Amino acid sequence: MPRVRQTIQDLTAPAMHGRGYVQQGEQRAASYLRQRFQKLGLQPLAPKYTQAFSLDVNTFPGQLQFQASAGSSHKSARRFVPGVDFIAEPNSGGGHVASRAIIFDSLVFTDAAARRRWLAHRLAGQAVVIPARQLARLEAPNFPDDSLRNSLNGAAARITLVARKLTASLSAEQSPQIRLQLLSDRWQNALPWLTIGVEANLRHQYPTQNIVGYIPGRIQPDSFLVVTAHYDHLGQMGNEAYFPGANDNASGTAMLLELAAHYTRPENRPAYSVVFLAFGAEEAGLIGSRYFVEHPLIPLNRIRFLINLDLLGTGDEGATVVNGREFPAQFQLLQHLNESQHALKSVAARGKAANSDHFPFSERGVPAFFLYTRGGIAAYHDVQDRPETLPLTAFANVFTLIRSFLDALQTQPETK
Ligand SMILES: [Zn+2]
Repeated sequence: MPRVRQTIQDLTAPAMHGRGYVQQGEQRAASYLRQRFQKLGLQPLAPKYTQAFSLDVNTFPGQLQFQASAGSSHKSARRFVPGVDFIAEPNSGGGHVASRAIIFDSLVFTDAAARRRWLAHRLAGQAVVIPARQLARLEAPNFPDDSLRNSLNGAAARITLVARKLTASLSAEQSPQIRLQLLSDRWQNALPWLTIGVEANLRHQYPTQNIVGYIPGRIQPDSFLVVTAHYDHLGQMGNEAYFPGANDNASGTAMLLELAAHYTRPENRPAYSVVFLAFGAEEAGLIGSRYFVEHPLIPLNRIRFLINLDLLGTGDEGATVVNGREFPAQFQLLQHLNESQHALKSVAARGKAANSDHFPFSERGVPAFFLYTRGGIAAYHDVQDRPETLPLTAFANVFTLIRSFLDALQTQPETK
């Protein structure tokens, strides 16, 4: 377990910049994994363990400033902290705005006079503040009133008030409008003058990579078991905030490395070849795994089973297996192993879901599970997903469970 903690510490360190597209964070994480693969003695599945690809991604590499005050010349301002009080929306544009906040009037939905009043506002150069629920209503595909939607898009900045937590994501596009999300309890009507500065940079064809290695099988080297985990995360947001991504997915990457360490020991050399795929650009929309299935480095129809590891840092409520319902025989095997080992409180089966890197493989007919642990922490896609608070409750037991599952798959008669 100290080595697992160290791996997670290394991947979440400030030097990795959140393993995203600012300060080459994802490249630093990739170099780290190359070194670990090499030390373990994994065979490269591509030169330097690297399968290169590229993506378009919107980034926030510099200034990210947002403050509120009583007036334009007022000295005492409330400065909002990026990551903690507010975040940029994935497709936010950049620029500077200094404006009195224009509060979206929810009466526009029901009251014709209020609607007329709202549409009479000149929003160019201004900042609009709108609660998330009302924005969702305006942006619903079946919402009939285009002029309301268009007027909102005409503002220079849109501040959405969100109730519970800030949840960041990535986009391949950039809006002309500055778009921020502010926790609603931070908003104070007494400080209506907003000063905003955002540097946004839409990167085209940003070069990134999957890191790929394997252990040749002892008996049937052309049959493959595949272990996957994405190593990328959301990166940095402005100069101050970065997303450590301890649970998502330093935890799964650490598990992948532990399984690789196990199978590279001579006494554990597997009968089938075991492939380890550390994907990039999962957070940008499963881009690394989609690239792999389009450009497979092993024949996809020789994959006996694939297990994808994402969000493995908790476990006091057990684990869930996406595709558990699609592959009942393998799920039964996993459950049987879990019961005999008393590994997890429960292992629940789900149907298909496009929520991680197993999905592009599933769609190509590769039998695959995605296993994630449940319970413990609420941190997700936010600056709170830190190594210090990651419990790793079930990590050791999940390791044993997956290892014995992979072992058992190699002794079963082939079903294909
Ligand atoms: Zn994620």
